[in-house]
Amino acid sequence: MIEKDDFLKKAFRRYYYENINKICAPQRLPEREIGYLTFYPEKMIRHVTLKNEGELKALLVHEAPKSVYYSTAYYDDPSAPINSRLWKGADLVFDIDLDHMPFKENHMTFIYICNSCNSFFADLNNKRCSLCGSEKITTANIPTKEGLEYGKDEIIRLIDILTEDFGIGKDKIKIYFSGKRGYHLTVENSLYEDVDQNFRLELSDYLTLNGFKLLNTILNRNVPINDLHQIFPLPHEKGWMGRLSKSFFEDIIGIKLENWDETYLRSLLQKYFSTITYKDLQLSLEKVIDKIKIRIDTNVTTDIHRIFRMPETLHGETGLLKKRITNIDTFHPLVDAIAFSQEPIKVYVDYAPRFELNEQIFGPYKKEEVILPEMAAVFLICMGLAKPLEFP
Ligand SMILES: [Zn+2]
Repeated sequence: MIEKDDFLKKAFRRYYYENINKICAPQRLPEREIGYLTFYPEKMIRHVTLKNEGELKALLVHEAPKSVYYSTAYYDDPSAPINSRLWKGADLVFDIDLDHMPFKENHMTFIYICNSCNSFFADLNNKRCSLCGSEKITTANIPTKEGLEYGKDEIIRLIDILTEDFGIGKDKIKIYFSGKRGYHLTVENSLYEDVDQNFRLELSDYLTLNGFKLLNTILNRNVPINDLHQIFPLPHEKGWMGRLSKSFFEDIIGIKLENWDETYLRSLLQKYFSTITYKDLQLSLEKVIDKIKIRIDTNVTTDIHRIFRMPETLHGETGLLKKRITNIDTFHPLVDAIAFSQEPIKVYVDYAPRFELNEQIFGPYKKEEVILPEMAAVFLICMGLAKPLEFP
């Protein structure tokens, strides 16, 4: 049997060697801290500085890291201990992950792994292994095409808010597939580069509608519900009020908003509010808010010393690339982020559910030898679901 990490390190090194011209260093590279995870021993190396793109390319080919990261912040001396370096600002960054979205059956395929008897399951009863009864279970998941499409919508809505409510130019926004289960958005060279952690926290709360008094503002109980139509927000209003109103008309009242006429919309509201109570309205608005809020990972946005996966590098848990997206409508993560080839490789698959890569369907497999294209073999080996039986 070939060692899994040996196989992956060789594959990653060959990828970087053959594709090194596609690597483009993040802007202001010497001011950023670089970190990377090695294959064996698995170890995180931090406080690295790189003077130029050439040094970055040399590191990728020489070290063939499992994962590579760069600080979103700029420092005077990125290799100095965190408390003795000068923080000069940081990109605004956002992480949208399927893990933070409302769970839908077809968005991710779950795999449960019993660490006691090394069995794999598609379902789990009572949090226990059905073979040995152990509770030492780890979970892996594979996002589906549907799940990743769903995540795109979140990114599109986030871009709208950043441009409309915060005046950030579209040219300053870069979006990426994360290489695993979601999307990253970064804002570089904006007026928000210098903002501190508190501002980033407020920004996160604004986007996630956490503590934002949208409901209280509307459910002003001093106004009888029969008069509420006169002050209820309309879709053309700026910011969250407009977005909430738009979703309210479309999803709760059930009309298509094509030609907005204030008198007509207010008459619809008057008619609707005459049939419901404040409690009904509150429930409807909670539903709307749950739909329109942006599900970012707030830890990522608020951490001003974060290291973030570097674009165009390989994700050590999938073998897919963190890939820049230039057109989100035509971008297909499970096609466009594929790094490895179609060359056949023999692997032993412990367990794999049905999955899709490059518009090819694979699996399900269970305790069997399979010949797979390199891209699928690397994917399963990275996920810990298969072992290599040969090198490419
Ligand atoms: Zn077990």
